[in-house]
Amino acid sequence: MSEHNQHRQVVIIGSGPAGWTAALYAARADLHPLVLAGYSTGGQLMLTSDVENFPGYPQGTTGPELMQDLRAQAERFGAEVLELDATAVDFHQRPFRVTTDEGEFLAESVIIATGASAKWIGVPGEEEYRGKGVSACATCDGFFFRGKKVVVVGGGDTALEEALFLTRYATAVSVIHRRDTLRATKVMQQRAFSHSKISFIWNTVVEEILGSDNKVTAVRLRNLLTKEVSEVTTDGVFVAIGHEPNTKVFAGQIDLDAAEYIIAPDPSTTYTNVPGVFAAGDVRDHRYRQAVTAAGEGCKAAIDAERWLDEQGIHRSELNVEFASA
Ligand code: NAP
Repeated sequence: MSEHNQHRQVVIIGSGPAGWTAALYAARADLHPLVLAGYSTGGQLMLTSDVENFPGYPQGTTGPELMQDLRAQAERFGAEVLELDATAVDFHQRPFRVTTDEGEFLAESVIIATGASAKWIGVPGEEEYRGKGVSACATCDGFFFRGKKVVVVGGGDTALEEALFLTRYATAVSVIHRRDTLRATKVMQQRAFSHSKISFIWNTVVEEILGSDNKVTAVRLRNLLTKEVSEVTTDGVFVAIGHEPNTKVFAGQIDLDAAEYIIAPDPSTTYTNVPGVFAAGDVRDHRYRQAVTAAGEGCKAAIDAERWLDEQGIHRSELNVEFASA
């Protein structure tokens, strides 16, 4: 069978913990899932060095190793993987149509697990020191800053949540915000203002992240009112200016909320507003955003898809065939 122009029972779009876990469960349910893993497979965890909070790894692991393990486990049971991005989808009629640069797929069901991406500030040093002091996830990386000094960039709920979380480990947390009023909710502001370890640097942006020996040492700041440039020493920079779900390709095809996350009409399931299209992980969850919660949702999505296909009377052996494209 050629890799392209196939009619599948389940196409999974995305290759983070949600996508691979959906693939594992769908493969074991004999649905022969196809995973469109994207050109940059593995999602946000490919940017994380140490992962110590994924159950089953008592010694810890790394983001890329975890993704490799999850992929290998799904492939062991027959999940097929193509490292292609979905460039367009048509969910208006069944079978659904998923387009890639190298062919089209018809799918009786689709599991969307494209995740979300942290927004970055885009300054020199940010990319270079990512995973070496620069992070966008305090829950993932805060532990490595025990006894150290960190800065948090942003003024919303995420920034204050990250700052408050980091006080468990760091000796001092400076929140750098580009204005002099916070966007965060009042209750979060009160908590942050009253915390002895948290201080604020107002009307200020980070111009550069500095480091040596492969780790962050300082940030160069510019005060937007006085134009004054200064350097603040720090061991870590947590960028917390929000996330964006990877849903551009689904716009107009499926219900998204105001922040463009996929809406789950019944959040206890992975159903979307389109019957047969399921969503799992960060693409619909901006609350927990953990590898293990995403994996759990991937499992749920595969079970939802399997039961839904059964309800539609779609027989497993009839599909996964090539079709001639028009
Ligand atoms: P947000 O509310 O959009 O805040 C983003 C913050 O980052 C803003 O303060 C913004 O500054 C700043 N920012 C944006 N781009 C920047 C840039 N290029 N350079 C410097 N600063 C920049 O995002 P969020 O904090 O991630 O929250 C998103 C949503 O999730 C909100 O509705 C929030 O309430 C919710 N949330 C809730 C909780 C909770 O309830 N525990 C936790 C996290 C998030 P300006 O203020 O100047 O625009």
